[in-house]
Amino acid sequence: MRYISTRGQAPSLDFEGVLMTGLARDGGLYVPEQWPTFKPAEIERLAGQTYVQAATTIMQPFVGDCLGQAEFSQLIQKAYGTFVHPAVAPLVQLGPNLWLLELFHGPTLAFKDLAMQLLGLLMDRSLQRSGQRATILAATSGDTGAAAVEAFKNREAIDLFVLFPDGRISPAQRRQMTTSHAPNVHPIAVKGTFDDCQALVKTLFGDEAFRDAVQLSAVNSINWARIMAQMVYYFTAAAALGAPHRTMRFTVPTGNFGDIFAGYAAMRCGLAVKRLTVATNANDILARALATGRYEPRAVVPTASPSMDIQVSSNFERLIFEACGRDSGRVRALMAEFAAKGAFTLAASELASINSVFSAHRVDEAETARTIARIYRDTGTMADPHTAVGLAAAAKEEDDPSSPMIVLATAHPAKFPAAMEKAVARLPEVPERLQKALSGEEQYAALDGKAEAVRRFIVERARIAQQGGRS
Ligand SMILES: *Cc1c(COP(=O)(O)O)cnc(C)c1O
Repeated sequence: MRYISTRGQAPSLDFEGVLMTGLARDGGLYVPEQWPTFKPAEIERLAGQTYVQAATTIMQPFVGDCLGQAEFSQLIQKAYGTFVHPAVAPLVQLGPNLWLLELFHGPTLAFKDLAMQLLGLLMDRSLQRSGQRATILAATSGDTGAAAVEAFKNREAIDLFVLFPDGRISPAQRRQMTTSHAPNVHPIAVKGTFDDCQALVKTLFGDEAFRDAVQLSAVNSINWARIMAQMVYYFTAAAALGAPHRTMRFTVPTGNFGDIFAGYAAMRCGLAVKRLTVATNANDILARALATGRYEPRAVVPTASPSMDIQVSSNFERLIFEACGRDSGRVRALMAEFAAKGAFTLAASELASINSVFSAHRVDEAETARTIARIYRDTGTMADPHTAVGLAAAAKEEDDPSSPMIVLATAHPAKFPAAMEKAVARLPEVPERLQKALSGEEQYAALDGKAEAVRRFIVERARIAQQGGRS
């Protein structure tokens, strides 16, 4: 399997290449050169398989020759061995045709663990084989950073730097990043928003000398391997509810468009998906873009669902690439317009192609709180604010008894106790794995939002830089 950049001007790479590279050198994102196809009989067989078996089947074509099936399966087993639920990603029925796909049973209680636990093992294996070191730079709206710390802490070949927006994530999210005390983990509070953090990452990736000097790598959802790992639960959930004999609808609490793009990728690989619904909070650039074709960020407003307080959704570029018939010149033109004018407008045909699969709804703060209360009253389930945005958006879709509605539950409510208490006047139970982070002593740096300061901070601390290059 080869991967190509959405902007068409970076070399094509194999799986190991995209795993270690993250963002393409032309500023684009890597996508498979061709979508593999799973036949209906293969999808049917997933029902009844363990998560590890299904994950091996779904991901193997994307890994290609880079890993043998036996070794790959062992890594997958190890990655999901850290989950407390034996099903890894269980389905819970909330209504006659409504299901929650619980993705928060990993070490940091958010769906980011499903990809990050595997990414940590894959990257570590690759570096050990080549005898090199790498520096990982991540921007986080809260959960990616925690998942990355958990996946990369104390790894000999990797130094991890995580930029988070100061004061704009929940205390539990921050503490999960700042209490590891691992010498290779460097959380950095940045004055600004998540978009500022993400822009810093992109700026530093654009500095080729720096990038090469510290062997910079990315674990944000711009890294294809994350999307790949997230495709698996779309398949397992659909197979459990009757795919390939029934079509499925998914509603996904969306920020950077990575998780829902994994659903789109699953569809392109043969899963019968009838509708993918983007659920946004007040930061509704995607809902506006799907309604009008105009992609135009506004100021980020803080909400009770901070992991979705994003206005520049990186992975949307992957969808645009598909919607314009994989015309990388067109993607370059739109992204150049975005860089120059801060907005772009999709052609009517591109928008129509997107809207044939996707719908989108914006859910404000009051409706999110009402939804948490309603779901708790009707089912006894505590939905965290991100999941509640998803549930509220799903409720705006038409009833369709022929096609189950699956809402992705992206975080455990205990990560957002203040919002939960406000909505249902009760605190969620705190799982043991979170209790440890809540009581530990915090260590992190604070920097202004300037790329130069972050670059210097990394050069001073990344072990590879101190060795003057290769280890
Ligand atoms: C990251 C995150 C999201 C958004 O996922 P994207 O892939 O960025 O769209 C939603 N909910 C939670 C809890 C998250 O951590």
